[in-house]
Amino acid sequence: MEGMQGMSSFSNGFSSSSNLLEVRNLKKYFPLKGLFFTKGYVKAVDNVTFEIRKGETFGLVGESGCGKTTVGRTILRLIEPTDGQIIYDGRDITKFKKKDMDWFRRKAQIMFQDPYSSLNPRQTVFQIVMEPVNHHGIDVHDPEAFVIDLLEKVGLNEGHLYRYPHEFSGGQRQRIALARILSLKPEFVVLDEPTSALDVSVQANILNTLKDIQGELDLTYLFISHDLAIVKYMSHRLGVMYLGKLVEVGNSDGIFEEPLHPYTKALFSAIPIPDPEIEKRKEKLVVKGEPPSPINPPSGCRFHPRCPFAREICSQKEPELKKVGSDHEVACWLY
Ligand code: SF4
Repeated sequence: MEGMQGMSSFSNGFSSSSNLLEVRNLKKYFPLKGLFFTKGYVKAVDNVTFEIRKGETFGLVGESGCGKTTVGRTILRLIEPTDGQIIYDGRDITKFKKKDMDWFRRKAQIMFQDPYSSLNPRQTVFQIVMEPVNHHGIDVHDPEAFVIDLLEKVGLNEGHLYRYPHEFSGGQRQRIALARILSLKPEFVVLDEPTSALDVSVQANILNTLKDIQGELDLTYLFISHDLAIVKYMSHRLGVMYLGKLVEVGNSDGIFEEPLHPYTKALFSAIPIPDPEIEKRKEKLVVKGEPPSPINPPSGCRFHPRCPFAREICSQKEPELKKVGSDHEVACWLY
């Protein structure tokens, strides 16, 4: 991708093992309502377990409809989980009542894909950035100076203070959204496809701003994307999702060097990776067909109807994530 070629990804040598977020057996089933009764469930997220360490970017990648966006929203309780635990800084947020949720909503924020719909067109930039601060009743000594400081952090300036969203480009609107997020001094931000609605030419600038701010403000990110090049550029660790399940988790460089799960291999085969060495070495694996429906997912390994390596056990028994390296887990009967 333009602006990212030739740039190294993050150093992935994280020494800290302290987790900011631990997701344990998370499930989100959406009921399918019939006329008189529930006809079934869309198992959008089904028994997902992973952790995010303080200060890192954890990438969540997979095809459209795999459940990655639902994971991001459920973690923030924008959608209520069906089951499982979400441990944030040692506290299970699924048990939080309103007062604790107010605390959590200051700590954990989300940046949406579409900057057009996330900003109120009738508010000035100043009002947009101050709104969450006012909502939480936070006392700011000099609001104008406070907002100007945030605007400068995200690559805007004082001259933008009293302008309206329609006066800005898509990239600038995403920067306004970011200033608004930062106004609450969060620790954790879910970035849900934050650049996929933007022109390729501005994507790299926004990604670099996100990286700079992460270092400066000690932020932890969950970075959700279908774009492997961007995930590689942004993530220290990553999880690959298929049909509501995590199939491979671990150090980002390690997985890009040597993807193990057949689905990860197929995903990487389909898209060029902006690293000529990896691109040359990578195994080309093409799978047939479309992902099955999450309403009635296949038995055993959900990938078995499409997997060229499927064996008898694959359709009968579901593989769990299994440790195959110091920071690498795979859910596949081949390992
Ligand atoms: Fe393929 Fe079996 Fe591994 Fe599933 S468990 S990815 S079907 S080999």
